[in-house]
Amino acid sequence: MKSHSGSLVYGGSKIAFQVQHAQRKTLEIAVHPNGSVIVKAPTDTSLDEVHQRMRKRARWVVKQLLYFQQFQPRTPKRRYLSGETHLYMGRQYRLKVVKSEAPGVKLARGFLYVGGPERLGPKKVGEILDNWYLQRARSKFPESLDRNLRYFLRNGYEQPNLHVRKMKTRWGSLSSRGTLTLNQELIRAPRDCIDYVVTHELCHLKHKDHSARFYRLLEQIMPDWERRKHRLELALV
Ligand SMILES: [Zn+2]
Repeated sequence: MKSHSGSLVYGGSKIAFQVQHAQRKTLEIAVHPNGSVIVKAPTDTSLDEVHQRMRKRARWVVKQLLYFQQFQPRTPKRRYLSGETHLYMGRQYRLKVVKSEAPGVKLARGFLYVGGPERLGPKKVGEILDNWYLQRARSKFPESLDRNLRYFLRNGYEQPNLHVRKMKTRWGSLSSRGTLTLNQELIRAPRDCIDYVVTHELCHLKHKDHSARFYRLLEQIMPDWERRKHRLELALV
């Protein structure tokens, strides 16, 4: 049995799949709990056809992948050793622990340098990075709020206060007193996704619940919110 691998991009995320040609009449797409996507196709099916079918079913495939993902262990525990990859605003950087006169973090050419005058152990590296992510979040999230406020200011809503902290189960929230809280971890996601979370929370200024009216408003302000949401789910789980 011949096997090909292919991939396609849906909602900003890459879906990789295996194609197996076999003696069969119909094409079948299966998503397995370990996250593999297998396409079983009749022997005479071209790869073009397979891609077309996959594209048509992409939304369903992503849904299945997300469903299974909730049972997978979360992002492998970070050990804060050189060589490990870490995300910042949707990009992967390779961690490099270095000696440097001034302690700190620097991004350069795909590397995330964490340095200090003495040898840094993983625990210390973790602390330095955590603090750096928080600082970055505090500098980037207000920009996202500015970008996404226009509709709400125009419609007479007040700009919420912004808080950044670690949250266990959600990306953001809006309190009844109008405080927008964003999860520090969101700084690892692409800008598009940060803007999506901010806009979602801002829509709660008008509608407190997740009613049809809420989604109509979200759709009106950010027509591609679903794509961004998928992207976020795939980028950070
Ligand atoms: Zn909500």
